Amino acid sequence: MLKPHITYSGSPLDRRAPLRIDETGLRAVLTSSEARIVPVWNQKHLFSAAPQVQFLSYAALSTRLNLDDLGPTFLGFDDGTPWFVVSLPASETPPDLGISGEYRTLNEVVSLLPNTEASVLAYARAMVIWHENHQHCGRCGTPTRISDGGHARVCTNADCAHRSFPRTDPAVITLIEDPTGTRALLGRQARWPAGMYSVIAGFVEPGESLEETVIRETYEETGIAVGDVRYLASQPWPFPSSIMLGFRAKATTTEIARGDDELEDCRWFTRDDLRAFGKPGSAFENLRLPNTFSIARFLLNTWLDEA
Ligand SMILES: [Zn+2]
Repeated sequence: MLKPHITYSGSPLDRRAPLRIDETGLRAVLTSSEARIVPVWNQKHLFSAAPQVQFLSYAALSTRLNLDDLGPTFLGFDDGTPWFVVSLPASETPPDLGISGEYRTLNEVVSLLPNTEASVLAYARAMVIWHENHQHCGRCGTPTRISDGGHARVCTNADCAHRSFPRTDPAVITLIEDPTGTRALLGRQARWPAGMYSVIAGFVEPGESLEETVIRETYEETGIAVGDVRYLASQPWPFPSSIMLGFRAKATTTEIARGDDELEDCRWFTRDDLRAFGKPGSAFENLRLPNTFSIARFLLNTWLDEA
């Protein structure tokens, strides 16, 4: 069976890492008329009404901004086309770049974008957020500067010179089956859209294997003990800087006892229950599954397809 596509993965870009440290070569690529520079303002991309992401050349952007101060980050090549992202300076309203469009959060429009474009924009967003959050050295507090085509930051204190690299925070997300394999464990957080239930997720802590995180998080949030933890798939999730690692696990107990208040409700659902989510007249009319572009939905759909 063909694996369904997971949104935000499957980037067409050749990241061409050696070019990051070839200053002259990278400069030539950046300033070429082929380069597509994606502006990001307030963690939002600029979209046309279609929606299609908007980008500019170095020459066009340079008439509006001092691009060299902003240090565009090199993303890679799609066929022969080089892609970059630039983070626009913080401001109340976005600067006028001379092109029309609206700044929107990626998740708002992703279901209307081609998968390849969504994955490039997720990568761009992750890089911008990392730069925003690492303006100062984590060791000595001195401002840092961009290096390696935007793939490193270096402390400007010569005695320190600490280098930091883009980071991705791992989180596990797990579909938990009951011991009979006929029910799945879903919970909801109070801040989620009304009626939305999803599978169990949590951040990996230092000193833990991924399997141990699955077991700990499930127990903390739901009181359920699990074993037989198996990895299935992953999804880049730059909201703000995670990678979601998707698992399946088998419960060895069934009595729910919410522990850490992360969830406001948690229940077992059969496949038929889940299929009735949102169906008018059903007992689950007011409940909804996670967004179709989330790995949570992928895990649920995979499980639903098995019976
Ligand atoms: Zn430093």
